[in-house]
Amino acid sequence: MGRQNVVMSEFYCTQCGNKGLPVWRRAGKEREAGHLKKLFCLKCGRETNHAECKESTHYQFSDFKIEFEYGNFTEEGLRKQKYGELRSDINDGRAEKIKTLGDDRSTRIRKELLDT
Ligand SMILES: [Zn+2]
Repeated sequence: MGRQNVVMSEFYCTQCGNKGLPVWRRAGKEREAGHLKKLFCLKCGRETNHAECKESTHYQFSDFKIEFEYGNFTEEGLRKQKYGELRSDINDGRAEKIKTLGDDRSTRIRKELLDT
């Protein structure tokens, strides 16, 4: 048989936006994109919730970026509101951007994706 079908998940810290180590999961055994997982963040120096992002799903890095920038995560790393609700608030002009993840960072991440 051919190569095993694996899916790469990326994890981003809900507190600082730092990218954690990626995790490879066998297709079919993966968790739902966007789910929150406790991982050690090197930048924060402690365990924090990380959001799981997967390319070609309904929750990718661009989605995490929106949640992060609109401050949708509490200090405990939980969502203040569901992502879908946040999106409709943004569409209706009821949400405000409060932080930014630098552009250099998303450029770098895009580059990392192209390199692999
Ligand atoms: Zn962090």
